[in-house]
Amino acid sequence: MLAARIHGHGGNEALRLDEIPTPERKPGEALIRMVAGGLNRVDLYMRNSGAGITHRLPIILGLDGAGVIQEADEGSSFRAGDPVVVYPGQPCETCEFCRKGEEVLCTRGRIFGEQVDGTFAEYVCAPIGSAMRKPPSLDFLQAASLSVAWLTAWRMVVTKARLRKGETVLIFGIGGSVSLAATQIASALDARTIVTSRDANKLERARAFGADETIQDEGGSSIVDRVMEITGKRGVDVVIENIGKAVWPSAMRALVRGGRLVTCGATTGDDPSADLRRLFIRQLQIFGSTLGNRSEFADMTGFIAEKDLKPHIDEVFALSDIAAGLDRLDSGRQFGKIGLAIGDG
Ligand SMILES: [Zn+2]
Repeated sequence: MLAARIHGHGGNEALRLDEIPTPERKPGEALIRMVAGGLNRVDLYMRNSGAGITHRLPIILGLDGAGVIQEADEGSSFRAGDPVVVYPGQPCETCEFCRKGEEVLCTRGRIFGEQVDGTFAEYVCAPIGSAMRKPPSLDFLQAASLSVAWLTAWRMVVTKARLRKGETVLIFGIGGSVSLAATQIASALDARTIVTSRDANKLERARAFGADETIQDEGGSSIVDRVMEITGKRGVDVVIENIGKAVWPSAMRALVRGGRLVTCGATTGDDPSADLRRLFIRQLQIFGSTLGNRSEFADMTGFIAEKDLKPHIDEVFALSDIAAGLDRLDSGRQFGKIGLAIGDG
């Protein structure tokens, strides 16, 4: 089978499309014939550095994936031909967090494309617990973007922030797939959504996905000033952000008293001023979040079907062209998910 593997770190030179044996399925696993994948910032991180992530080289990249069951145990919940989405984690199923349904906090869990071979291959062997039913309303490329971006956005907006109808939410960096998914989810919850970007064109496009108000990020206090204009000097109930240091002061200052801030990334740096006085005087709540649980995945797919939401795919690259896809992601020019076409649906 063909697989996109990195043999080292430091850019596309270390990334190769290799012909390797199809993995052999062990009991308890499903062999999935992959149809589609999607790119995430962590794929770039693995390609460029991988520091702090325990892994052996070469390793197949990829956390997002959707495909068709090729083989599973007799009597398991799946049979050959079933369309599935890959849940990106491989939790241990026995630690204290797994036992209470918080497997996203698993102390011994592994993640596809980080600690173990990932989804950017023609076949993937996954523990049966990491195979999720594909929503019939989505094609394989759309479904693949549920694995990371949509699951991450769902946990941030619904589980952590508990965003409610009528509340106002500020979502930073609308070009990213997590931010766009968060906007679609928040809008479907009947919240008022405000989105930011440095790119006026992306802001215009965001309106079709539920953005009620848009703010062009021109640095300094431009975002907070506009938020206060839009909200009548009140501030927003919830902030969803994954940019980190560059926007953190604005994110904190945009919140109403008692407001909730959820972060899942720090692409511009992870050590902004904590602004503790503002935190306790205004009684703000800050949540860290990453990925999500399988119960959240199931809740999310139910919500997607009910509200007829469709993940937005920016551009699709063939598996053989993954280097170009990663370069596009790195450029920040995308709007939504960059898809990877792997096989026939
Ligand atoms: Zn566990």
